[in-house]
Amino acid sequence: MTRRKQPKLKPCPFCGEMPEVINLTDTLIQVYCVNMGCPVHVSVRVGMADIPSSSDARAVAVQIWNTRKG
Ligand SMILES: [Zn+2]
Repeated sequence: MTRRKQPKLKPCPFCGEMPEVINLTDTLIQVYCVNMGCPVHVSVRVGMADIPSSSDARAVAVQIWNTRKG
């Protein structure tokens, strides 16, 4: 396993809570806002099939989370 620089996870843009990164299934990673009272309840899903190396899936999901606008 190679260590990669993981992008820093940003807080939810709508409520400021720190999101959680989970493996939804063996091939699906989800980043989502854990705040039940969040007005938007943001969640981002990344399928490992879309990513060249599965070890990058988490980093890609975090990247998408960080750059999404809503
Ligand atoms: Zn939120």
